Amino acid sequence: VEIVSTGTELLLGQIVNTNASSLAKQLNELGMDVLFQSTVGDNRVRMAQVLTTALSRADIVITTGGLGPTQGDITKEVSADLLGLKLVLHEPSLQQIQAYFASRGLPMAASNRRQAMMPEGAIVIPNSRGTAPGVILVKGDKSIIHLPGPPYEMEGMFFQSVAPYLLTHFGNQGCIQSKVLRTYGIGESSLEEMIADFIHKQNNPTIALLARNSEIHVRITAKASSSEAASQLIADLEESLRQKIGQYIFGTDDETLEQVVGRQLSAAQLTIALAESCTGGLLSSRLTDIPGSSAYFRGSVVCYSNNSKVLAVGVPQGLINRHGAVSQEVAEAMATGIKDRMASEIGVGITGIAGPGGAVKDKPVGLVYIAIAGPSGIKSYKHQFTGPRSAIKHRSANAALNYVRQFILSKQGG
Ligand code: ATP
Repeated sequence: VEIVSTGTELLLGQIVNTNASSLAKQLNELGMDVLFQSTVGDNRVRMAQVLTTALSRADIVITTGGLGPTQGDITKEVSADLLGLKLVLHEPSLQQIQAYFASRGLPMAASNRRQAMMPEGAIVIPNSRGTAPGVILVKGDKSIIHLPGPPYEMEGMFFQSVAPYLLTHFGNQGCIQSKVLRTYGIGESSLEEMIADFIHKQNNPTIALLARNSEIHVRITAKASSSEAASQLIADLEESLRQKIGQYIFGTDDETLEQVVGRQLSAAQLTIALAESCTGGLLSSRLTDIPGSSAYFRGSVVCYSNNSKVLAVGVPQGLINRHGAVSQEVAEAMATGIKDRMASEIGVGITGIAGPGGAVKDKPVGLVYIAIAGPSGIKSYKHQFTGPRSAIKHRSANAALNYVRQFILSKQGG
């Protein structure tokens, strides 16, 4: 397969090519080898060149983008030209587009008719999530598939129509499957050292380490004749890897730290409250991104100023005078203060210097104290983060989430 992403926005770097990435993943799961990915702007000559090249080296060419109603949307026209096909009105598509607008009470622009013009003989793929239908063109033993640019529409059509088409016409190609083990609290090289044996003798499955924000992901990829066989190969390697690095693995695939912590809090029937200074509410926001968080999230205070730490969380003024607002003592007082005020089982205090200004003697930018107060005792941690302001905030929130995770695990004897 060759994936051809079209759109000048991609070349200008204004949008990130998530379509190529999600298509590649899906195609791999069907066992199809994606050998090339190309990107081209909305230019007839260059698009024709790219499609010609793609057709010369792949059995299946899948494009995304350029199926819209405007003059810049040219994908279908270019491929029709290339294959010597005329564009003809596809009546069912026109009706579907008209119905799409009618159901939303919107007028349909005349230009939307363009979206119903199809190369003659094309297999038309309905779009249940938008207006632009997709197209499958067959030329000899090659298929060209045009999908729309908006990811939600593109993905819907791939699942509903393209994957079944590919499986029917190109047979079962086996299955390539991946699983990601997400780790936190260890660097890439240390992790690599711990699993060096596995990395050296890897074959099928393969192992790849990827650094993502403050996490290191271990991606296991297996190829087998069926999904079950690939899953089994992955499960066997995962078990061995967990024996080596299990303490750093907090989740798998798309699981985030906040999801894992939310699940732990729910399962243990614990509630949490936060006093956030340098993270400015980021941790509260991330925890409340999780559906059902009202079961365990009591509330939070963004106590940015010294005064708010005293008034809203009950940090003694004397403590701030003696140790400074960015100190272990104040982080601990924030954690216990918020826990008591919100009557939660767990209280978290975060105070630090996100920068770029604000550093004082012995307290550089990136210095962050995190305290976790629980039903019986308190733990606090000092961090020296680096990076721009947003990264320091994000890393502080990650670290706090991981401490909460470990705190709950330790209470459960895990
Ligand atoms: P529309 O019917 O909405 O005009 P289209 O098929 O013509 O769709 P484009 O106009 O090329 O698609 O892109 C529409 C939008 O879809 C882009 O502005 C962008 O937000 C998104 N998009 C397009 N291509 C990609 C891509 N490769 N990865 C991620 N998003 C994309």
